[in-house]
Amino acid sequence: MSAADLFHKQFGTEPAGLWAAPGRVNLIGEHTDYNEGFVLPFALPQRTVAAVGPAPADEWTVCSTFEDGCVSFGVTAPGEVTGWAAYVAGVVWSLRDAGFDVPGARIALDSDVPVGSGLSSSAALESSVLTALADLGGLDLPLERRPALAQRAENVYVGAPTGILDQSASIRCQAGRALFLDCRTYEVKQIPFDLAAEGLAILVINSNAPHQHVDGEYGVRRKSCEEAARILGVPALRDVPLDGLADALDRLDDEVMRRRVRHIVTEDQRVLDTVALLEADRVREIGPLLTASHASMRDDFEITVRQIDLAVEAALSAGAYGARMTGGGFGGCVLALIDTDRADATIEAVETAYAKEAFTPPTCWIATAGPGAGRL
Ligand code: ADP
Ligand code: MG
Repeated sequence: MSAADLFHKQFGTEPAGLWAAPGRVNLIGEHTDYNEGFVLPFALPQRTVAAVGPAPADEWTVCSTFEDGCVSFGVTAPGEVTGWAAYVAGVVWSLRDAGFDVPGARIALDSDVPVGSGLSSSAALESSVLTALADLGGLDLPLERRPALAQRAENVYVGAPTGILDQSASIRCQAGRALFLDCRTYEVKQIPFDLAAEGLAILVINSNAPHQHVDGEYGVRRKSCEEAARILGVPALRDVPLDGLADALDRLDDEVMRRRVRHIVTEDQRVLDTVALLEADRVREIGPLLTASHASMRDDFEITVRQIDLAVEAALSAGAYGARMTGGGFGGCVLALIDTDRADATIEAVETAYAKEAFTPPTCWIATAGPGAGRL
């Protein structure tokens, strides 16, 4: 059932409009966002659609094709609405907390973003609702301010300590472009990302591996990075230059912390190198950077699992130019840069490798760069 059909079924009228916001894959730059560094996501064609109509002031009702029944709430504080509707109540709270006069609304949601696979269905949900409420209420809310408000909904209201990457991608990405984002200044640059012209494609491989300890491990990585920055006397690890990395590592006693720092500092540089190659129309050459990023996540940041490493190995053996895990880790998806005509062979190689180790089969598709959030 579409969002519009669900709206009609639940509320008995037509919505005032439809708004959509996409999931994302991060081409490169993992765990760099909360270290105030660089990321390079692009928006997926998969998206969350919000059918939205007016309601009396301070009344919000939300339903989803994923859930039975509706959830209604008034003006709330963080923690009052729980479960999936907390993402929506969080957006309302975040906008109000920033001083915006948020209109009451009825909201019906549908999505084809895979949930809990590291493709950011949560940001797609927040971003679609935020965009709809901003339009419906005629809020004076420039694009560049929106990601941080959606992030606050997730951090403060839902209680998930995520960085700015996901919401920035869902809100600010453009079709046919990757989004180079400076996570300190929130400055963006739209990077041409037209792979089809080169006969290339990004294959996304959803490992379908069960996520384990995601929130806990994420928090531990984040703390370790913040502690390292404190010891090194810098505001964030972004401020450790690559040519100062050896010195910085010498000043850290803890072997694990040293490896965490090495991942972040080298990963920031790989993002910059990837952007430079894309801008020079040398797309194929980003392959080794993708693969180096994966090795760094596997060995230094230690956020991969066997299914993920296996998908990377199988894709590379099948001739991919590069492959890496994308997303926060401990499951989720791998992306591989391949010749378009090698897609079937690459998928088969990954499926065969999974079957050999009796893992749940992966789900694979070619991802193109779609548009960011907006009214349909
Ligand atoms: P990810 O963002 O990687 O998909 P998260 O755990 O961050 O995973 O967010 C997934 C959660 O977001 C779901 O468990 C659900 O609570 C909520 N969610 C996402 N999309 C929808 C939707 N269309 N309808 C209802 N809830 C949704
Ligand atoms: Mg999420």
